[in-house]
Amino acid sequence: MFDKILIANRGEIALRVIRACREMGIASVAVHSTADANAMHVRMADEAVCIGPNSSADSYLSFPAIIAACEVTGAQAIHPGYGFLSENQNFVQIVEDHGITFIGPSAEHISQMGDKITAKETAEKLGIPVVPGSAGGVPTVEDAKKCAAEMGYPVIIKATAGGGGRGMKVALNEQEIEIAFRTARSEAKAAFGNDEVYIEKYLQKPRHIEIQVFGDGQGGGVHLGERDCSLQRRHQKVFEEAPGPCITPEERARIGKICADAIAKMGYRGAGTIEFLYENGEFYFIEMNTRLQVEHPVTESIFGVDLVREQIRVAAGMPLSFTQDDLVINGHSIEVRINAERLPNFAPCPGKITQYHAPGGLGVRMDSALYQGYSIPPYYDSLIGKLIVHGRDRPEALARLNRALGELIVDGVDTTVPLFHALLAEKDIHDGNYDIHWLEKWLKANFG
Ligand code: ADP
Repeated sequence: MFDKILIANRGEIALRVIRACREMGIASVAVHSTADANAMHVRMADEAVCIGPNSSADSYLSFPAIIAACEVTGAQAIHPGYGFLSENQNFVQIVEDHGITFIGPSAEHISQMGDKITAKETAEKLGIPVVPGSAGGVPTVEDAKKCAAEMGYPVIIKATAGGGGRGMKVALNEQEIEIAFRTARSEAKAAFGNDEVYIEKYLQKPRHIEIQVFGDGQGGGVHLGERDCSLQRRHQKVFEEAPGPCITPEERARIGKICADAIAKMGYRGAGTIEFLYENGEFYFIEMNTRLQVEHPVTESIFGVDLVREQIRVAAGMPLSFTQDDLVINGHSIEVRINAERLPNFAPCPGKITQYHAPGGLGVRMDSALYQGYSIPPYYDSLIGKLIVHGRDRPEALARLNRALGELIVDGVDTTVPLFHALLAEKDIHDGNYDIHWLEKWLKANFG
């Protein structure tokens, strides 16, 4: 087992990894930009190294600065968290070339699931059902029209290099495809430096269902059921739950087995998430994230396992501490993402926290790097906390969420908390009756 791990991230996820390290008796090294000198992860880690200025390009994304921090502190492994360098195959290669362990899958597996076209091809080969779409990239508007006509409208044009919900445009008919194609391409070029796009059938009322998988890197693989992350704004998740309110045990076992078998076949190492759109009882692969997800705590809650601990174990060559048969669902869990944003436009709202009180009690977990007097810097993501609740069933989890939200105090900045209070007053939320478009429509009607 490692003696010391460096965490190449910030905020709540850096804390999450430090906590796992501490329980395992492993020393932790935080890295930080100058803007984060007073951040909680710096205070909580055993050691901290400043790796550059405010801009993430020069700090949290800097390969030489992070590798030098490992060498200076003697850290034997790097945990990347999510975002930043977590899915950067070049980084993984360089880390390994330096004799440091990357806590995650191999560079090769990251690249197989890296761009979306390659990912779909890999998934198909592994027997995972995919969304019908173009065979590879679509270079011209004429090709796009031809492909859409064959498939039938509506279609969605997506950036091959896409992520974070950017570079996606829907075309309802042939009149719309030209503009959708051009906008998707220019957005893709601006966001990812690569303007290749492809086409998929646009599913009209799907839910976003993702399967948590884990590979031991030795040919073994398990699944930890699904999360329903259908409540999204601009293709970004805001409310996640496990198990999915609409998934039956038979469906879970079927899709779970397909995913676990795929992971085993790949020889995949570590945590991964296979994302699907789910409509009329069918699952359609959209992408795989080769890292820990923001919403991993809902899975931890219902299975009672520590996914970060398992990531560290398999990276150190140890077996998973559970088998498929050990994984039995207990109750229901919900996570809400609390962002420092001002409603109704969700404009980022950095600033000083004048008061902070985290909720507690049975079945309540608050993953946050906030503290009273902390100043949220304007340079990074606006996620400031995740409130996760667990109950014996969905109604209990919802009641607990309502109670915990009422206890939470975050003063000094605007947050997305009022959104969740409002959502909890909706019958559809209590009925679990929502698809990936529900939230956008509701926001338009209530906040628009
Ligand atoms: P990103 O990597 O940018 O998050 P994804 O491929 O994971 O992109 O898609 C994000 C979201 O976009 C999905 O959860 C869904 O809401 C929507 N979406 C993507 N593909 C389709 C599709 N074929 N039909 C309908 N909605 C889609």
